[in-house]
Amino acid sequence: VSLPRFFDRVATSALPLLPAAGREALTSRLEATTLALAFRGNADLNAGFMLAVNLAARLYPQLVIEAPDELAAEATTLAQAINPNVDFGGKTTHRLSFADAPAESDTVTVFATGWNIVVDGARNGTEPAAPPAALAAGALGIGMIFRAVFADWLERGRTEREPGSFNLITLSEWSDPPVPERFAVGRVHLAGAGAVGEAAILTLGSATVEGELVVVDPDTVELSNLQRYVLTRDSDEGVAKPALAKRELEKSTLNVVEVTTPWGRDERSAPGQETVLTALDSGSDRIGLQAGLHRRVYNAYTQPTDIGWSRHEAFGIQPCLACLYWPRGSRPHQYQLVAGALEQPALRIRAYLASNRAVGQPLAPPLQLPQTPSPPTPEEVIHWLTTPLLTDIAPRYGLDTETQQLWSTKTLDQLYRKGICGGGLVRVDGVEDAVLVPLAHQSALAGVMLATQLLIASDEELRTARPHETEGRLDLRRRLPISLTSEATKRDGCLCSDNDFLAASAARWG
Ligand SMILES: [Zn+2]
Repeated sequence: VSLPRFFDRVATSALPLLPAAGREALTSRLEATTLALAFRGNADLNAGFMLAVNLAARLYPQLVIEAPDELAAEATTLAQAINPNVDFGGKTTHRLSFADAPAESDTVTVFATGWNIVVDGARNGTEPAAPPAALAAGALGIGMIFRAVFADWLERGRTEREPGSFNLITLSEWSDPPVPERFAVGRVHLAGAGAVGEAAILTLGSATVEGELVVVDPDTVELSNLQRYVLTRDSDEGVAKPALAKRELEKSTLNVVEVTTPWGRDERSAPGQETVLTALDSGSDRIGLQAGLHRRVYNAYTQPTDIGWSRHEAFGIQPCLACLYWPRGSRPHQYQLVAGALEQPALRIRAYLASNRAVGQPLAPPLQLPQTPSPPTPEEVIHWLTTPLLTDIAPRYGLDTETQQLWSTKTLDQLYRKGICGGGLVRVDGVEDAVLVPLAHQSALAGVMLATQLLIASDEELRTARPHETEGRLDLRRRLPISLTSEATKRDGCLCSDNDFLAASAARWG
């Protein structure tokens, strides 16, 4: 058996999409699959082909490489570095081909020209592929292969040719925006060097990008990460995630700064950064990052049904990053806003605000709580009366004893305005939701889109060509759609309609 040693994680990510299959059936199917990766393109597609090999080696135990000698050797080395047990050869059951013409229906064909990505020979073009388009073609191709290999278990499996295309800049079916030779991005922060972040790093390294990339992630690589972290090799367990960025971009024109502390912990990821790419794991982490009021934020995510990306360049005017993750419901009161930001029970927060009690003190009896449909339990009330709020929020914000002392005499209102709105406290944890692990190609394409948004923003012509909508989405469980734009909306009660945040943002950026 040559399944990757992180097969547990493979099963965790694949089985939720394949409810009809069990673990054993999944194992047998993978063992019965031999995926050929064929290259019939020009050098501009090399990076896309290598990403397809990279992703394939994380799932399929038998591969056949059909490529010119040098590229084939490179591909073989990469696949073995990812899964040392991988088998080469055998009778091909499925084929992903990088070519500009369609093939027989059991072959998925992908191609990229300019910023266009083409599946199954839908269109043709002679313009060399922009590097991110080549990478997107590789990830999309592996997505199509997944739908073909597991077609009988999927609602919308791939059973025939599915010609389609889309443009990475305009998100329409076909466009011809220019492909600049280089991009100058200035100083950029990357919050989170996990699966999405690594694919963004790979994308930035594939083009000529000049600037500085500050990579912020406190974690090291774990075995389970190998299932979908495109910069990792089998030997990378225990390596700091920012170090992988440094390694990948060593020969690039991007200067990498490695930061191994959580987001917001020190001045290198303090509030008010110029440009931030967010590849964080949870909505509350992103709300926390948005509270730091950076000038421009670009975001990408994976979720069970699709992947998405968004841009946030005009706080208070366009939907902010927190709008995408703001809890639904009617407009919250100030205490609900604070409770949301701190992830604390609203009644506890309300009592602190009403009493002006210092956050370093527990609430004092008698506790007069309004009638609500979900009152706190007696244990909760006892906890509120014996434990200071600051003690409970300290771990979330990583506050050491000294910082806690500084804040202990402040009221919650002061803490909220200075610590949260002003960004003095906010930091983010990289906690991964183990229940919803995306497949490798989903995270990879999200990362490509994250980096692409930055490249677009750095170029005036590309900026003009991008869609008016600030959010995009792609459901990789389906055949290629024509329209990928999605209109994000400003959310009532979000940070971006809060007067304190608006004033702080205006003071900082004008
Ligand atoms: Zn907002």
